[in-house]
Amino acid sequence: MRFLITGGAGFIGVSLANHLVAQGHTVRVLDDLSAGYAERLHTDIHFTRGHVEDKPKIWRLLNKIDCVYHLAARVSVPESVLYPREYNQTNVSGTVAVMEAMRDAGVKRVVLASSGAIYGVQSVEKVHEGLLPNPASPYAVSKLAAENYVHTIGKLWDIETVSLRIFNAYGPGQSIPPIHAPVIPAFVQQILGHGSILIHGNGQQSRDFIYVDDVVRALALAATAKGINREIINIGTGSGTNMKQLIGAIEVTTHQRAQIIKNPTIQPGVINLVADTQQAENLLNFTPQIALADGLAMLVERDPQFQPNTNIRK
Ligand code: NAD
Repeated sequence: MRFLITGGAGFIGVSLANHLVAQGHTVRVLDDLSAGYAERLHTDIHFTRGHVEDKPKIWRLLNKIDCVYHLAARVSVPESVLYPREYNQTNVSGTVAVMEAMRDAGVKRVVLASSGAIYGVQSVEKVHEGLLPNPASPYAVSKLAAENYVHTIGKLWDIETVSLRIFNAYGPGQSIPPIHAPVIPAFVQQILGHGSILIHGNGQQSRDFIYVDDVVRALALAATAKGINREIINIGTGSGTNMKQLIGAIEVTTHQRAQIIKNPTIQPGVINLVADTQQAENLLNFTPQIALADGLAMLVERDPQFQPNTNIRK
C-alpha cells in the first residue's frame, strides 16, 4: 500500500513509518520538523518538510496514496493551556486542510491519531468510547474537534475514517523538552542522572502507559481493518499506573533510587485516565503485548538519550 504520514518525523510517526516501510509499503512523510527528526526515518521513506496547512504541497503528496495517517499536531497539554490559539491552528485547521486536500485528491481512507485526553474527568474507572467527552485542556478540545471534522468531512465526501484515541504512549525516541516533558522519559532521565523528581499533587494520579510498538501495531491494523468506518477506538492497555508505582518500576529497571520531591499544591490534572480496551479488541483484534516493566527495559536499553557517554539530550 501507499501511505502518507503527516507528523511522520515525530515520536510515534517515525516508528510507524519505519515499520510500514519494513513491511514493504511505500511511505511518504510530511512534517514541519517543529518537533520531529527526519534523520530517524529509513532512507526508503520519501520525506517532505512542510506544514499541514500547505494544501498545494499536500495535494502533490497525496498522488496515488491509499491511506493517510494524520499524526501532525502540537502535543503538550500544559503548553496548550498557554497557547490555545496555536493548538487550534495546527490541530484543528491543520486537520481540516488535510481532509480538504484528501477530498480534492480522491484519497479514500484516513486514520487520525486522536487522544485519550478527550475524556477528561469521568465517573467510571475505565473510559469507553460511548462516554460524553469532557476535555479539560485546549489540547483535548483540539483533538475532539479534529475527530469531529474528520468524521463529518469523511461522511460528506465518502472518505473512510477512523480515530484512534491513543493513551500515554512511551518508548525510544520520545523527546524530553526542558519544560512540560512527558512523564516517563523525564523520570527516567532524572533517575539515571541522579536528579530529583517532582511529583504533582499526591502522586495518586494514574495513567494508561502503552509502549510505542503496540501503538504502531494498532495504527497498522487500522489502515486495513474492515467495518471500522467512522469508528472511534481507544488504544491503551486497560491498566492504570500511578506515579508512585511508575517511579518504583523505573527504579527496578534502572537499579537506581529516585529522589522524590512532592508538591501537593500543583494540580496533577485528570486523576484517572485508563482505557476500556474492548472496542480495540472487537474491531481491530488488537491487544497490547508489552507490559510496563518490559517496555521500560526496552526504553532504557534502546533510547540513545539514556546510553552512558552520549551527549544526546533531546
Ligand atoms: P510528536 O510531537 O513527536 O510528533 C508530532 C509531529 O508533528 C512532530 O514531528 C512535529 O514536527 C509535527 N508537526 C507539528 N506541527 C506540524 C505542522 N503544522 N505541520 C506538519 N507537521 C507538524 O508527538 P507524538 O507523540 O509522536 O504524537 C503523534 C500524534 O499522536 C499526535 O497527533 C498526538 O496528538 C497523538 N497522540 C500522542 C500520544 C502520546 O502519548 N505520544 C497520546 C495521544 C495522542
